Amino acid sequence: MKKFVILGSGTSGLISAAVIKRFWGDKVQVSLYYDANRKNIGVGESTTPTIFSFLDIMGISTEDMIRDVGVTIKLGINFKDWIPGTEFFHGFHEVDFQGESDDSSALYSIPNGCYNGGLMYDKATNTLPHEDFNRYSHALHIDTQVFSDYIFNKLKDEIEFIDDIAESINVSDGKIESIDFKNSGNVTADFYIDCSGFNALLIKNLDTKWNDMTEYLPIDRAIPQQVPYEFEEIPSYTVAEATDNGWIWQIPMRKRYGTGYLYSSRFTSDEEAREKYNDWLMNKFGVELQTDRVIKYKPGYYEDAWVGNCLAVGLSSGFVEPLESTGIYLIIKQISDFATLNSNLNFLEYNRKRFNAVNRIGYELIINYICLHYNTNREDSEFWRYITNNKKEWVKDFEEKCKYEFLDVSSLGDSSVRFIWHLDSYIQVAHGLNMFDKDEMLRFIDSKQHKKQVMSFAKEHYDYTEIKKSENKHVSHKQIIESIDK
Ligand SMILES: Cc1cc2nc3c(=O)[nH]c(=O)nc-3n(C[C@H](O)[C@H](O)[C@H](O)COP(=O)(O)OP(=O)(O)OC[C@H]3O[C@@H](n4cnc5c(N)ncnc54)[C@H](O)[C@@H]3O)c2cc1C
Repeated sequence: MKKFVILGSGTSGLISAAVIKRFWGDKVQVSLYYDANRKNIGVGESTTPTIFSFLDIMGISTEDMIRDVGVTIKLGINFKDWIPGTEFFHGFHEVDFQGESDDSSALYSIPNGCYNGGLMYDKATNTLPHEDFNRYSHALHIDTQVFSDYIFNKLKDEIEFIDDIAESINVSDGKIESIDFKNSGNVTADFYIDCSGFNALLIKNLDTKWNDMTEYLPIDRAIPQQVPYEFEEIPSYTVAEATDNGWIWQIPMRKRYGTGYLYSSRFTSDEEAREKYNDWLMNKFGVELQTDRVIKYKPGYYEDAWVGNCLAVGLSSGFVEPLESTGIYLIIKQISDFATLNSNLNFLEYNRKRFNAVNRIGYELIINYICLHYNTNREDSEFWRYITNNKKEWVKDFEEKCKYEFLDVSSLGDSSVRFIWHLDSYIQVAHGLNMFDKDEMLRFIDSKQHKKQVMSFAKEHYDYTEIKKSENKHVSHKQIIESIDK
């Protein structure tokens, strides 16, 4: 039997404990240490459909989450004012077309001026498809505290939970030798999972490099505030609203909005941010800023998240920013990849290196995709001028590709490493930021050897998306939730 020690009971500690125990069962003993005065960071309410690969392991359905955890359903993110005065929707991938995992309809619809968001939901609504939840792609808006308590209770008979504070970490030969806890004393394990959040208590003591992303993603501060709200209808989406110095998230829960103001300490002082956020809260909800809390972080990630006998999961492995709700997605991916690669618990070097390589690709994909959202070419503030003048190489190349040609599946690389977003997601964001040129697209299509077939397939695909959307009857999100709550 291998002994695992997990440090931290935030979302990453709980998800890691559950995946490890469900994957290896009696072959492992899992002890989770946490500080009960600060169980988790308390933000991280917007998820991606990947949440279900974890909930499935736990045998928890969408209906259970609605009834027992009080979640709402998310179909996508509405981006407001990234180009001032405009908005666009990034919806989840809904259905496949003729077995294709990517949509080609935009090749027809954009040059013909009838872009409809592809296979996905194309606009922000207060509705849900009138179908079984299992039949369409969706995610959840969750209250972090309620969700953590729910998972904690489900695991309490399988995992040893210990309320104790790690005081020092003993390292020998590039590995964790033991952890000294305030009450439990010296604790050893075969393997350690670092889920200690931004403290990164274990991994920061080991030999791994920090990849700093501040140059491209300068936002490094967040002020979160919950706002009580009586919903007549519940939005089925998160809002990401750009401001002149960052952006604000708005997440609809049952009786409140989770909101948060993100900015860069390089361009905005905490006082200035508090003032601007207060103005926004007063304007939007008629409430004042009530919190003193400022979450500080450095955007970036550790080159190797698995070093020796320690794996960092979640915030301890890195964090970029919450724009596409990738925090919980990454946690699930990291711990699942670790279990799959290390299935017989041999902790081989080959598997460790493979894990680290895949994890780095994951971070880079997320960083590129988030940087794409900032490709607004805005120059209306110091913050936006900096962003526009410091584009990541990938963004510059991607912008050129969109402007002079178009995107197809092959332009995004191997699907095995694209894993989170489909082609549609890139097109939705690039289209929302006016990155395509119709005339250049037509010239690009004209240069193709099989242009007639390419266009007729794209047209066929577009017709299919239109039929699919007209058939997809939507009903009130609130009513669906209330009918399950009964
Ligand atoms: C501003 C912001 C917004 C975000 N929004 C989203 C979002 O919308 N969607 C999304 O998916 N993700 C989001 N994230 C990321 C998400 O919050 C995290 O991925 C998720 O909460 C996991 O956190 P964690 O478990 O890694 O860390 P934490 O929740 O910080 O947990 C750390 C744990 O370590 C323990 N600990 C620390 N030090 C010690 C010690 N010395 N001894 C014992 N225990 C210790 C604590 O008790 C705690 O249990 C957001 C993050 C930020 C910063």
